Amino acid sequence: MADDVFSRIVKGEIPAKKVYENDKVLSFVDIAPVNKGHVLVIPKKKYETITDMPEELAGELFRAVHKVAKAVVKATNAEGYNILVNNKRASGQEVPYVHAHIIPRFADDGFRFGWRTLKYEENEIDDFQKKIRSFL
Ligand code: AMP
Repeated sequence: MADDVFSRIVKGEIPAKKVYENDKVLSFVDIAPVNKGHVLVIPKKKYETITDMPEELAGELFRAVHKVAKAVVKATNAEGYNILVNNKRASGQEVPYVHAHIIPRFADDGFRFGWRTLKYEENEIDDFQKKIRSFL
């Protein structure tokens, strides 16, 4: 099966506008940004989702996200920023290689996530609390 685009970037087969790298992670500018200065941070070793990664590597990824986000905010004079990871197609993930988006945001940038909210039936929230806790 052909490599996905981020595997090819890690291998150096296609170019990327790199902003940061260390032995474990790589960060580069997203070519189709929500706002200019939108960057991605990926592990150099391929995993599809955050929970596929060893916990320690997920920590390394977010250590880099923390570092790069500060630089993105300074470079763009952003008034805010979103940090987002889509995991699997159902969540909107298009490239099946885990990546954290760092999106600089501005009060008047005109972009809004299509967020909706649901209501729990009586006691349902407790059921979810219990069920999630049982897996931890
Ligand atoms: P997602 O929907 O979370 O899988 O996001 C994939 C992201 O990868 C999108 O924001 C794309 O613009 C970005 N992208 C795809 N190909 C490239 C590339 N060659 N260089 C940089 N960013 C890319």
